[in-house]
Amino acid sequence: MNQDTDVVVIGSGIGGLCCAGLLAKYGLNVIVCESHSVAGGAAHSFSRQGYTFDSGPSLFSGMSTRPSTNPLAHVLDALDETVDWLTYDGWGCAMPEGQFFAAVGNESFIEILTKLRNKQAVQEWQRLQTVMLPFGRAATSLPPIALRNDWQVAFSAGKYFWKMLRDLPQLTMLTQPFSNILEAEVSDPFILN
Ligand SMILES: Cc1cc2nc3c(=O)[nH]c(=O)nc-3n(C[C@H](O)[C@H](O)[C@H](O)COP(=O)(O)OP(=O)(O)OC[C@H]3O[C@@H](n4cnc5c(N)ncnc54)[C@H](O)[C@@H]3O)c2cc1C
Repeated sequence: MNQDTDVVVIGSGIGGLCCAGLLAKYGLNVIVCESHSVAGGAAHSFSRQGYTFDSGPSLFSGMSTRPSTNPLAHVLDALDETVDWLTYDGWGCAMPEGQFFAAVGNESFIEILTKLRNKQAVQEWQRLQTVMLPFGRAATSLPPIALRNDWQVAFSAGKYFWKMLRDLPQLTMLTQPFSNILEAEVSDPFILN
């Protein structure tokens, strides 16, 4: 506590560690304070009787391939950090409607919907996917790593300007709750949940 520091980051979750890592990369002295006994926040792990458990997240999309749309991948790349990722082909689901294996990809979920729900649910899901396409494009039109808080933002974010302009109508919707989009397209309670 007696050392000089430029920034104190409270909390060593993914957010705090990304923030501290990038600040340190740019030469600032950073201290991260954590109230728990291990770092990582919701994303730490713990062991019991030889088994290791995730305390929170297990699935991170877009981490094992590049280019990635995941901001966490951008931060790890900027920090020159590598992590071993296991690629899932799907996951088991136990829900009130039934137990099933949801394989990664579109076809499997349509099969599940056909079995557990009905034709209308399948149609709603397909319509939602069509509606989501431009939102997906808009959400990735400006990589978070291009944002900075000085004049050089003109260079780092400027090259994405036309892409963002094209997606402006969707970008304004993206700042609103997702339920605004979802509830306009979907009424099936299973899909909504
Ligand atoms: C059960 C569960 C499953 C999840 N599954 C996924 C998933 O599969 N995929 C995915 O992408 N996301 C998932 N998430 C979400 C993801 O884990 C979180 O969005 C992310 O880890 C949050 O990081 P954070 O840094 O914002 O906050 P946190 O991880 O909550 O970190 C905050 C940290 O600050 C510390 N802190 C708070 N106050 C103080 C203080 N006063 N002094 C010192 N330290 C303090 C806390 O102890 C904590 O370590 C899941 C979350 C949970 C809970």
